[in-house]
Amino acid sequence: MLFSLAAQRFHEIEKIRGRLEMTDILADLFRMALPNEISDLVYLTKGQLLPPYKGIDLGLGERFAEEAISISTGHPKSNIQSYFKKSGDLGLTAEHFVSERKQQSLSSSELELSYVYDAMLKIATSSGTGSQQLKIRYLSDLLNSATPIEARYIVRFVLGQLRLGVGDPTILDALSVSKTGDKSLRNELENAYNLCSDLGFVAKTFKETPDKIKEFQIEIFKPIRPALAERLKTPEEIIKKLGRCFVEYKYDGFRLMCHKKGKEVEIYSRKLEKMTHMFPDVKKAILSLPHDEIIFEGEALAFNKKEDRFYSFQETMHRRRKHGIKEASLKYPLRVFIFDIQYLDGRNTSILSFKQRREIIEGIFPKGILHTSDGWIVEKPAKLRKIFDDAISKGLEGVMAKDLNSPYVAGKRKFAWVKLKKSYGAQMDTVDAVILGYYKGKGARAIFGFGGLLVGTYNNEKGRFETIAKIGTGFTEQEMEMLREMLDRIKLGHPPHDLDYEIKPDVWVKPLYIVEVAFDEITRSPSHTCGKKEGKGYALRFPRMIRIRDDKGIYDSTTTKEIKRMAGS
Ligand code: AMP
Repeated sequence: MLFSLAAQRFHEIEKIRGRLEMTDILADLFRMALPNEISDLVYLTKGQLLPPYKGIDLGLGERFAEEAISISTGHPKSNIQSYFKKSGDLGLTAEHFVSERKQQSLSSSELELSYVYDAMLKIATSSGTGSQQLKIRYLSDLLNSATPIEARYIVRFVLGQLRLGVGDPTILDALSVSKTGDKSLRNELENAYNLCSDLGFVAKTFKETPDKIKEFQIEIFKPIRPALAERLKTPEEIIKKLGRCFVEYKYDGFRLMCHKKGKEVEIYSRKLEKMTHMFPDVKKAILSLPHDEIIFEGEALAFNKKEDRFYSFQETMHRRRKHGIKEASLKYPLRVFIFDIQYLDGRNTSILSFKQRREIIEGIFPKGILHTSDGWIVEKPAKLRKIFDDAISKGLEGVMAKDLNSPYVAGKRKFAWVKLKKSYGAQMDTVDAVILGYYKGKGARAIFGFGGLLVGTYNNEKGRFETIAKIGTGFTEQEMEMLREMLDRIKLGHPPHDLDYEIKPDVWVKPLYIVEVAFDEITRSPSHTCGKKEGKGYALRFPRMIRIRDDKGIYDSTTTKEIKRMAGS
């Protein structure tokens, strides 16, 4: 497949807002791709080179891209920089200068999709001395052969700024439509994706041998997409829903999925990024387990042995810095509270009932760094309330109730797990909302260039984001500066393609970050689009930012469906 075809379709996708249209365009493109091209195409559409757990960083520096544009078009760098300053988009800058190319390279030819993909992979992965020059050369070679529209997407891609707004759900729908003309295979495809977290691999398997999708298997070193919890408001509601169930402490730490095969160990975050280097102590403990093959999950929390208390989430996060991991692991020793097991020595344990999985966990994990989570069988609301109160008095977040008969539900929010959190009292509730844009500060806040956030929820039935609140409070001065800087790096010149909105912020941003938001109640407002019906959407009254949830991805935000349920409708 020629790259120009993909670039043309990307251009069409950028111009439309409807998910259905987007699905059709992608389905058409997927249909045309050969089996050995489809995974490259899927990754490129997502603005990635490989699934996130492979840890490939895009994000070539802008200066290098300017240099490459200059070399390949013959225009001086100063012209390129001033055009970029005006347009704010190096992709458009590349497009402009390629269309006014002063010289045509002799070697230029039509670009194949796989050739572009391979070159981009080389740009992302070259390292060591001389690698910067090499990256510039790879990019200028690509631009030599590129048409203006191809140049736009190549440059945006290598900068890590391809913003098509195509989410995983749309890609899954499009794959199904590409084969059957409808979404009938979407569930099978989604189940396969949930087991391996690699959409490119799912797409390739689907194209080569569609039947294999049905019998997809868990593999070690391919992270499983995490099970998600539903929420209920009281112990009574939980017992009514689950009956006799298992209730564990809900630890407010860092979710880890650990994989081990022989002498190799990998640790993945909830967002499925490889985090092994940050947890040398946990890795050592996993290596000493008497099992050759294992996949399990737990919540890591810094623990103060002397005072018998947990450190806060912020203190636990000290190790997220690149340096000082060793020091942090001595100062804030971790415990990982193991709450699930998906695989053990050749056996897929994720299909067993929770009760059976719990028995396995209790039989394996010692009470050292790897610690079986605290939990009890519960039949009555009073006992659940007692465990909840104990958890709160120990400084924990609340409890997780689990359906004893349910298998592990990868990647889905089902009533297999139900959370009951401390903040769910009458006074304060929280949701995890996606940042969609920000307001520039007025008055005293003008110096920070930041006055508040526009945030939203994800409507997973429609595959679109919807706004729910304008947050003006809860920020420290430091946070305002940090947020402005952070959001400026992902600003968009237009609203995100997969957003329904009525009100506009001063600056739109790419949906990338989640914030935890407290509020007083859920009301209805014509200004917001969350679950909009009869002209009114759901809105948060008196929203306050609590913290950035950088352990969560955008599709982990609170869904519109959850908001409806929280509002009691
Ligand atoms: P939330 O982030 O509020 O949606 O709650 C779900 C998260 O709670 C999971 O992703 C885990 O990181 C965390 N968690 C803490 N303790 C447990 C537990 N015992 N079982 C399952 N998840 C837990």
